[in-house]
Amino acid sequence: MSSELSNARVNLLGKSVEELREFLAELGEPEYRGAQIYHAIYAERKFDFAEMTNLPAALRERLAQEASIALPRIARRYLSADGTVRYVLALTEGKPANVEAVFMPEENRQTICISTQAGCAVDCRFCLTATLGLQRNLTAGEIVGEVLVALEDNREALKPQTNIVLMGQGEPLLNYDAVMAALRILLDQKGVAIAPRHAALSTSGIVPGIERLAKENIRPNLAISLNASSNEQRDQIMPINRKYPLEKLLEACRNYPLKPREWLLFEYVLLGGFNDSPEDARRVVKMLSGIRAKVNLIPWNPGDLPLKRPERERVDEFQRILIEKGVPCFVRDSRGQDVMAACGQLALAETAAAAT
Ligand code: SF4
Repeated sequence: MSSELSNARVNLLGKSVEELREFLAELGEPEYRGAQIYHAIYAERKFDFAEMTNLPAALRERLAQEASIALPRIARRYLSADGTVRYVLALTEGKPANVEAVFMPEENRQTICISTQAGCAVDCRFCLTATLGLQRNLTAGEIVGEVLVALEDNREALKPQTNIVLMGQGEPLLNYDAVMAALRILLDQKGVAIAPRHAALSTSGIVPGIERLAKENIRPNLAISLNASSNEQRDQIMPINRKYPLEKLLEACRNYPLKPREWLLFEYVLLGGFNDSPEDARRVVKMLSGIRAKVNLIPWNPGDLPLKRPERERVDEFQRILIEKGVPCFVRDSRGQDVMAACGQLALAETAAAAT
């Protein structure tokens, strides 16, 4: 993988097919070469111009001098007992930063969880990433690069289907333009070719971002990190709720134009003794009435924060109440907990496991 850079060279990673066509035109080359390079980088995962043998040798040499394909560098790789791989990726362009991505293999598919910002400013109280604060936004190329690095590192073991979830570090809707530019490449069937229905973006509830996403033609599934059954409760664990309280958030959800067979996913981190009572469950049912919703219950993953994992009986009772009232509800025990790769744990806890 070529990730060594000279600042003078133009990084092509993250460029759309139109941008690549323009770049080639600026070099005085036929524009269709831009589409060939687009296909080579994103569909074939060729990161060295020398491998793009459908290009003339002279053009390959020129590209090697004037351009680069700057992938994030794998700084550390942690392997979990359940097969999950957590990557610490060093971003090599712009302000140096590390982010994390997680590769989760399953029987017929793999799911890749990616970050959209280095750190996060949203400050959810149950999230270790929040303790980092916001370091910087990722570029479209860095976001696409996370997926390409994870695919490439597991090239020999890939299953036919790839899912991506934007649930790593950062609030995707606070880095909207770069996230959408990356998704247009990731979900383009001539690009990385992930099916839009196999992609999900999780937000803490940035209402203007939800309203923008509603207008996109091609977009991932939307997941809302709900985590509370009242404003009072949500204010305590998600300060963003003071800016976009539940009424506004749920109104944006009600107005979200769902396609046939599309659902809004509500994620609910269950915090023992805080938001896991039967009354909470009944309030959630009421809040979601009129929304085509599914709920994922995520029993809190013990991290370094002073919060408790809920009792199993409370989790089951919560789920039973939602299902009885007609709200599809699933319990998701996060994978990769032994390497701190579970949701809300993507902080740089470097001591978790042995690196390879
Ligand atoms: S849960 Fe998501 S939005 Fe909230 S602080 Fe963590 S990374 Fe940011």
